[in-house]
Amino acid sequence: MISIHDIFKVGLGPSSSHTVGPMKAAAAFVQLLQEQGQTEHAARIAVEIYGSLALTGTGHSTFDAVLLGLEGSLPHSIDLATLPERLARINNEGYVLLPPHGHKLPFEVARDLVVRVDESLPKHPNGLIFTAYNAAEECICREVYYSVGGGFIVTDAEFGRAHNEAVAVPYPFNNASELFALCQEHGLSVPELVCANEAALGGCDAGAVRRRTLALAQVMFDCVDRGLNTGGILPGGLSVMRRAPKLAQKLQALHDANQINTHLWPLVYAMAVNEENAAGGRVVTAPTNGAAGIVPAVLSYYRRFHPLASEDGIVDFLLTAGVIGILYKTNASISGADVGCQGEVGVACSMAAGAYAAVSGGSLRQIENAAEMAMEHHLGLTCDPVGGLVQIPCIERNGIAAEKAIKLAGLALLEEGGHQKVSLDMVIQTMLQTGRDMKSTYKETSLAGLASTLKKKAVAVSVRVVEC
Ligand code: SF4
Repeated sequence: MISIHDIFKVGLGPSSSHTVGPMKAAAAFVQLLQEQGQTEHAARIAVEIYGSLALTGTGHSTFDAVLLGLEGSLPHSIDLATLPERLARINNEGYVLLPPHGHKLPFEVARDLVVRVDESLPKHPNGLIFTAYNAAEECICREVYYSVGGGFIVTDAEFGRAHNEAVAVPYPFNNASELFALCQEHGLSVPELVCANEAALGGCDAGAVRRRTLALAQVMFDCVDRGLNTGGILPGGLSVMRRAPKLAQKLQALHDANQINTHLWPLVYAMAVNEENAAGGRVVTAPTNGAAGIVPAVLSYYRRFHPLASEDGIVDFLLTAGVIGILYKTNASISGADVGCQGEVGVACSMAAGAYAAVSGGSLRQIENAAEMAMEHHLGLTCDPVGGLVQIPCIERNGIAAEKAIKLAGLALLEEGGHQKVSLDMVIQTMLQTGRDMKSTYKETSLAGLASTLKKKAVAVSVRVVEC
């Protein structure tokens, strides 16, 4: 059983698989080196970067993420303000400082960071190999990692194994029907059941689960605020303007003039988050970086406009959204490289719709129906980011999905929910199968769809393989 904190991870943009995952892999390797008592014996570390990570490394800050990870930095805690200075030191002075005591290790980027654009490791397109050598150039430690989407990493030996299988939870479930049946049987709401499981997974009590969930919500709210207050041009070469601040000002002016426009706020909140993500800022995977705007946007809308909004509601919202994300992660995929954008923006919309129905007093059936409809109407959504950057169509797409989540929750709440022909489990399986059937060029290659159209129109974009 995985935790909602495996779905919601504090990290940095622009990519959960190409930035967050590689940084975690590098940090995991130096931790391994330390555990094996080899840190002081290391004279050199070589990092080989394969496949999609190699092809998109520059655009997604993969190489920088690896360098910072070698110094023990992790996405949730790294001080973003110090990055330029640290990267300049590593690149110009040719060394990294290994944790825990700052062992100074020579690291020549041109020699020790090997980018293998024409090769992929056998199990996944996002592979990295780390090898440490002693002064005699003998290998003293080696590990293979895969960044498998949503910021998850696994070693070669862990690949394909169930995550966290050893931890017992009071209410184990494998799919949505089991989850809802457990709620029914024990007289629990969805967030109450999830809270009990989270307490077991975290070895803590319900109060600690609540505090941790509220802290997560605060990171999301802070991200929305930064996005609403930061203008300028996004990096990457597409010259995409950050639009959220001006849009928010215009909406606020309409709001102040008593014009009804609340439905547009989630759209702008989501764009604010995804502009932060595209700029390399601090975001929460929800369930990925590319789809990071939807859950915070709907949660922000709930906090500001919902008549029942409360701190308890914020906790319930994230516990419910998180468990819906777990259903997709464990029964299908949350990786655009696997199943297209339906697995990222579609999943995020489903999470947000189910959660919004829950905090609006929805029954189990209504929560399920909201989550199901939100995926049903994203089935087949392809991934075609222009220029390999998580900007066009990703930023607006998050906004549209946030607005859609609220509307579909509202639709579910108007009905009893017993009429539906399609269950949440059925739509999750359909999404997976649709992804399997989808042409590979529509799964994070930037070789089809909008990316291809803009290239034909001679919009000045380079084409990279991308994964968000
Ligand atoms: S289009 Fe692709 S890159 Fe953009 S949000 Fe969707 S899955 Fe991510």
